[in-house]
Order: sequence, then C-alpha cells, then structure tokens
Amino acid sequence: MPKTSKYIFITGGVLSSLGKGIASSSIGLLLKQRGLSVTVQKFDPYINVDPGTMNPYQHGEVYVTDDGAETDLDLGHYERYLDVSMSKANNATAGQVYNEVIQRERRGEYLGKTVQVIPHITDEIKRRMRAFDGVYDVIIIEVGGTVGDIESLPFLEACRQLHLDLGRGNSINVHLTYVPYIRSAGELKTKPTQHSVKTLMEFGIMPDVLLCRAEMKLGREIRSKIGLFCNVEERSVIEALDAETIYEVPQMFAKRELDAIVCEKLGIRAKALNLDTWTRFTNRIKHPREEVTIALIGKYIKYKDSYKSIGEALIHAGAINNARVNVRWVDSEILTEQTLASELDGIDGALVAPGFGSRGIEGKLAAIKWLRESGTPFFGICLGMQCAVIEIARNLAGMPQATSAEFRKNKFNVIDLMPDQQKVTNKGGTMRLGSYPCVLTNQRSKAFKAYKSATIDERHRHRYEFNNDFRAALEAAGLTVTGTSPDGRLVEIIELPSHPWFVGVQFHPELKSRAVTGHPLFISFVKASMAHRKSLSSRS
Ligand code: GLN
Repeated sequence: MPKTSKYIFITGGVLSSLGKGIASSSIGLLLKQRGLSVTVQKFDPYINVDPGTMNPYQHGEVYVTDDGAETDLDLGHYERYLDVSMSKANNATAGQVYNEVIQRERRGEYLGKTVQVIPHITDEIKRRMRAFDGVYDVIIIEVGGTVGDIESLPFLEACRQLHLDLGRGNSINVHLTYVPYIRSAGELKTKPTQHSVKTLMEFGIMPDVLLCRAEMKLGREIRSKIGLFCNVEERSVIEALDAETIYEVPQMFAKRELDAIVCEKLGIRAKALNLDTWTRFTNRIKHPREEVTIALIGKYIKYKDSYKSIGEALIHAGAINNARVNVRWVDSEILTEQTLASELDGIDGALVAPGFGSRGIEGKLAAIKWLRESGTPFFGICLGMQCAVIEIARNLAGMPQATSAEFRKNKFNVIDLMPDQQKVTNKGGTMRLGSYPCVLTNQRSKAFKAYKSATIDERHRHRYEFNNDFRAALEAAGLTVTGTSPDGRLVEIIELPSHPWFVGVQFHPELKSRAVTGHPLFISFVKASMAHRKSLSSRS
C-alpha cells in the first residue's frame, strides 16, 4: 500500500546563503533518526536547465547523481546527511519546468488554450513536487532563492497550491530567516524577519516554524516577540546559531525539539530520536586526537564551494581517522618550480582537484612531480589523475611533449577522447556522466586495499580518458593501472606502486562520501598522510 507522504516546504527570507540546504538536510536527518523514510527535493528558480554549464564561481560545485544528472550542490548535503542517493527527480530548475511546458505547447497538447504561468507552469512544478508521492514518509521541498525574488514566485505559488491540494495537516512551511545583531544598538533586530514573513504571507503561505539564523542566542523575549508578530507559536521560533561544524546543526535543532514539533504538526507518530552514532561522529570532528595538513591544489580555490564535496569528504575521512584535516588551499595558477617549495612546505599530503581547461595545468604538473619525488601522498581526482598521467609520461616515460588533447592536440596525447567520441563535435554530447562500474584488477593495489572489493561503482563527469595507445609505455615507466571498466577499455585508477601513496582516479569519489561512513579512498589517503607526517617528524 502506498504511504501518505507528508510534505515540508522550506523557504528562505531576508538574504541568501543562510544555509537552507544544511537546514533541510538536518531536518531530514532528525526525521530519519526517528525511523521515518525521507527524501529532499531542491527547486531552483534560475533559467539554466541545469548548473552543468555554469562557472563554479557562479554556482559552486556541480553535483552529479548516479543517474547522471548535473545538479545543485545542496543535493550533496542531502546525500551526505541522509545517506540516500539522489536522482534527476530531486532537482528541478525553472529552466527545466519552462522547457517542458513549451515543448508540450509546441506539440499542441494544450489544445488551443493560452499557456500561462498559472496554472500551466505551476502545475508542472507541482507535478515534479509529487514525483516521490507515496514513496517516502516525508518529502522535504527546498525552494531556492529568497522570498520576494521575482523568479521564485511560481514556485511559492506551487507550494501554496500543493498545501491546499494535500489537505489539512499534511504539509507545513519552515521558513529560514536572519536576525541580525546591531552592534551600535547592542541589540538583535527582528524587523527583517517580520518583513520576510509578511512577504511570505502575501503569497498565501503561513509559516509553521521559523528557523532564525543569528550570531547569538535569541532569548525568550525575542522569540516571543517574533512569534507574536509573525503569527507563529513561541516554541516554534527556533534559533539557528553558527555551529562549529555544519554536522552539529541536527543536534542544535534537536535540543529545541524541532523533530517533535514537526512530527506533531504533521500528525506523524514516530519512534524516539536516536542521534547516538551521529553524535559520536560530530564529537570526533570537534575533538580529534591528531591533525594533518592536506594541500588542495586547484584553480577555483578562491571560492571554496567549487570543491564542496572534496572538503566534506576530507572532514569525514578525518573523523574516521580521528584527525583534524587542515586544508591548505593552493592556487595552481601561481604554482611554479620556484614557488612550489614554499607553497607545499609542511604539508602531509596533497589532492589535485578536478577541473576543465588548460589554466593552471603547469602548476599542477610541477606539484605532482614534487609530490612523486618527495614521497608525499598524492591523490588525483579526474583532471588531477589526468595530470598525473601526463607528468609520468613527461618525466618517467621520456615523452616531454605529453599532454591531454583538451589542451593541445599532438602525437603525445596520453589523455584523449576515445575513438568513438572523436566524431562528436557537440561538447555536451561527449561527457561521461553518472555512475559506472569499475573492476579493481590488482589485489595488492592501494585501491583494492581501501575498497576491499573487486567491483565498485563511482560517478563520473568528464570528457577525456586515458589513451590506451600509451598504456604499455607508461606501465614500463612504473605506472600501474589498478582499476578499469569491466571490459578493460577505460582506465579508471592509476597508481605508482613504488610510492607510499600515489593514486589517481578518473571518477569523482568525493561525490559518494557520506557522513559517518566516509569514502574508502579518502580514508586511506588521510591515513597515508598521517603516516607521512609521523615519518617526517621522526626524521627531524
Ligand atoms: N577536463 C577533464 C575532462 O573533461 C577532466 C574533468 C574533471 O576533472 N571533472 O576529461
């Protein structure tokens, strides 16, 4: 029998970047830890069909799901907190919605009617909001943007209508706002929250819970004032203070009994909350026994969200290894043979990041050479792995002109398009996206020891591949291929067995690292970096 799903609409007010994604994930986790099945959907009001074409500086990381959708990075938070895999249907943009409606109109499916935002666009939004109806106990719908934005309007209208369609007691609105502290007045100010709730109400949405981001405790007085002016009972006005780690937010909400409030308002009877494992995990993040410094070498380091999942995967792996991972962000564009020593001084391991285009490549290659020669743990992801292949080709296999066809076409394209991709001229058509199986071919490899399994699935987002024409020459120079596609055609993992830890992967392991359990390769990499740190300190 299908379940009756309950819905939680999460909206944001006052300003962006308040952490709606973390709030949604945290509420989801609390409900999951009360024995309920939960999923989260993100609705983005921008016109791009997906963020795949956006610059990381505009949008941060593009998160790829198993089914190959290029999505908003909040989906990464949902997966990490809830340990549930997301799919295409978990992220919808205004671009997708309009695209669908316009195509339907062109096919004549509206039978001569005037096609309008209401009801046609809103109906399509509602259809998508009900994609998981009956599948989960609770469906959390996060609406991107800030209430009052012109582009958010059809999405808020769809929430209002869906609330009505679902019937009383089957959905609630949780509104995330900001309560600034004004230093000169020495006061927390509630007015922005009042205005934001007023705007929400203009759209016919009454908040059931207010999550108030603030730098300091609100206190009873402020909460009751906000409650009174915003028509929300006092206990449902919940402060959301800055946390030491984002993984602590669920416990902060639990202290305010947010899970109980939500269950009560939705008429859900659920088990008692159990956050024991989660609390052990956050305690390890907050009070680790050791520390380790890892360089993250990439070209988008000025905007940390570009490498969101890598940063989180390192935190998970640190918690499992009982170590604080200090990330040193290193801009590959300023790395040269001369600056290397000072930029990488004191690091215990380095991760060379994914990316597109030739900027910063020479810096990455110089760094990899340094890491290889100094025996410092190296983890190359996607473009980082491709750079390792180029570095080995240039410096160990006697091919000084070796490069990727992405940067320059020549006779030494050790990274290239596969023959069947060469004919396709439309870039969008050639990306390998989503989950693919990989077989680990060598039981002695670092990869096999980490995964403890001969077959794995990992997610991809790239166009170029290891060129098999050079495989023999590179293997003769010391590189080993330790993971391939099941047919052996696509090289997925390369290693240097003579090095303490030198692993490059064509896929994106960071996208599958979940809180509490982490990812085998990241766990192994952090562990190797800790060992390297110890060997360095015993030498000095
Ligand atoms: N630019 C490379 C490719 O397209 C690597 C992509 C990546 O690092 N995600 O193959």
